[in-house]
Amino acid sequence: MRLIDFILPVENPETYTFAAFLGVSLGINLVRILVLQWTAFFISATHFGLKRRIYRLTNPLSQLKQEFASTITGGSIDALVFAAFWKFKPLVMAGDNVWQTFFLSFVLMEITFYTIHRALHTRKLYFIHRHHHVARVVSPMSAFSFSVSERLVINAGFMIPILLLSNYMPISYLGLGLHVAVNYALGIFIHMNVEVTPSWWLKFPVLNFLNPPTHHSMHHARYTGHFGLFTPFLDRILGTEFHDYAKVHGLAASGQGLESLGSRPERQERREDFEPVPKVQPMETIYVRAS
Ligand SMILES: [Zn+2]
Ligand SMILES: [Zn+2]
Repeated sequence: MRLIDFILPVENPETYTFAAFLGVSLGINLVRILVLQWTAFFISATHFGLKRRIYRLTNPLSQLKQEFASTITGGSIDALVFAAFWKFKPLVMAGDNVWQTFFLSFVLMEITFYTIHRALHTRKLYFIHRHHHVARVVSPMSAFSFSVSERLVINAGFMIPILLLSNYMPISYLGLGLHVAVNYALGIFIHMNVEVTPSWWLKFPVLNFLNPPTHHSMHHARYTGHFGLFTPFLDRILGTEFHDYAKVHGLAASGQGLESLGSRPERQERREDFEPVPKVQPMETIYVRAS
């Protein structure tokens, strides 16, 4: 028996229900992604958005074309995964636990994303992640610009912990749906290349839990740090936060975004903070020979 006949037998009426659900899931998913992305593009094209560019550089057309194609592919893969979940119902579901599901799913995703992302930056696995890093300067469409293999890995990183969790706690569809919606919106938010948060954001304890767009923009420009998704904790604990992060955020939030990918305001600040070290004088001028 062919695999497709086993999964979706033609004579079974449920096949047609599944096909209809897949179509609806695909349509809703792509529309919500495109609406969110174009809202972010609109904000970045306003006077406010142009003033608060984090990297004051434009995106090459080739990057935007690739990202648009990947958005359609990535959104379709996600819709297929949602439809498969509906068909096979692998989770222990319950109507309650909406906020518990949302919170635990969010925390688990932060941990798995950091782990997967950091592994994908190793020499052996980077080929899977390279597609996402075509964007040195991010655009709202970078949020869904992944290779098919990376999109599947990310989906597995999202679903497997939830599958394990459902052995201990019934999972709420609504809680999971909320997490996916928030994940999409924040994914586009961190790829805006516009610092929409105020300059005091990082100093305010509760707001500080959520990464402003500068955090992930620096990851795309520099590669070597900021592997976390929406919260700063793992980068901070594991020493992968850039030392000049607060400085770059403050500059972008005050309309003085960086002019090049290699800009390091921390180094400039260090140079400015100290007086130039005087040259060591030659020995004979220091020690006067006793006569
Ligand atoms: Zn990366
Ligand atoms: Zn990214």
